[in-house]
Amino acid sequence: MAFETLTFWEDIGKAGSIGIAGHIRPDGDCVGSALGLASYIRDNFGKEPEVFLEEVPRAFAFLSGADKVITDYPSREPFDIFIAVDCGDEGRLGKAMNYVKSAKKTYCIDHHATSSGFMESNLVIPESAATAQIIYTLCDDSKITKGCAEALYLGIVHDTGVFKHSCTTRETMEIAGALLDHGVSSARIIDGTFYEKTYLQNQILGRCLMESILCLDGKVIFSSIDRKTINLYGLGPADTEGIIDQLRVTKGVEVAILIRELTPRSWRVSMRSCEIVDVAKICSMFGGGGHVRAAGATLSGSRRDVINNLTAEIEKQLVKQG
Ligand code: AMP
Ligand code: MN
Ligand code: MN
Repeated sequence: MAFETLTFWEDIGKAGSIGIAGHIRPDGDCVGSALGLASYIRDNFGKEPEVFLEEVPRAFAFLSGADKVITDYPSREPFDIFIAVDCGDEGRLGKAMNYVKSAKKTYCIDHHATSSGFMESNLVIPESAATAQIIYTLCDDSKITKGCAEALYLGIVHDTGVFKHSCTTRETMEIAGALLDHGVSSARIIDGTFYEKTYLQNQILGRCLMESILCLDGKVIFSSIDRKTINLYGLGPADTEGIIDQLRVTKGVEVAILIRELTPRSWRVSMRSCEIVDVAKICSMFGGGGHVRAAGATLSGSRRDVINNLTAEIEKQLVKQG
């Protein structure tokens, strides 16, 4: 069923129960999109959607509705509407898939190039810098409250790396500008949720930079964090955010790779590229996905296997490009 904005809001208006969920290991866009949409519905329809996320990273806890997020996915009556945000496939929706299966109507709002169209009605715009940006375009600007605006602004800030990634367009900036008019403090969101790092985050960033290795004539940089290090520092997913971005801006580098060992010999891969390599294509080959310049996957094997598999694919693309 094609996505129709009018029908979407009519469905929200009619629904008795509304569920919203984002992807596993939620990032800023995921949390901002889910809470921004929930706020808009609460503020304009007088309904309280239930928001499901694996966790709300501490830096985002000030967002309106963050305290009501459900992290334990209890079984419940089927939802009238269930909406997946910033997530394009079953695997990445995690335990929330149970709600999708029983929901009367399902929607997906997403911007991943690899989005599979796994819901009944899917609004997927890969050109959009953030899912929060798409959600803004569905809303009536005059009905956006400060709480909603803060969440959407945070989503855009995080997925654009503070308006610097190549996905940032004039529309992104104009929407961010419109959100500022709703009273958002850009300093609070940019410094407080993006740049501010804990001592632990800085330590692990330093360690990853120091241990990073260049290959393919300096075009690829990679670093890894193994189980031992994760356990030693007690690292959570949010503690390694931003490391990949620092690796990517190394002079001469086209692709940055950061791998974290989730369970023995199973590695969570993050990839970023600058201008040439399509990292979504590479991550898709290994069961993951994402965007042309930012993607992820989970690979198994030794550290060396993972790096060799990824660099072989990068090399093919670089050779083809000449
Ligand atoms: P990350 O390196 O985890 O920050 O992911 C980079 C981008 O790719 C983000 O937009 C993620 O949502 C997306 N992504 C990561 N892993 C996957 C996956 N397995 N499938 C689809 N998209 C992914
Ligand atoms: Mn995301
Ligand atoms: Mn996103």
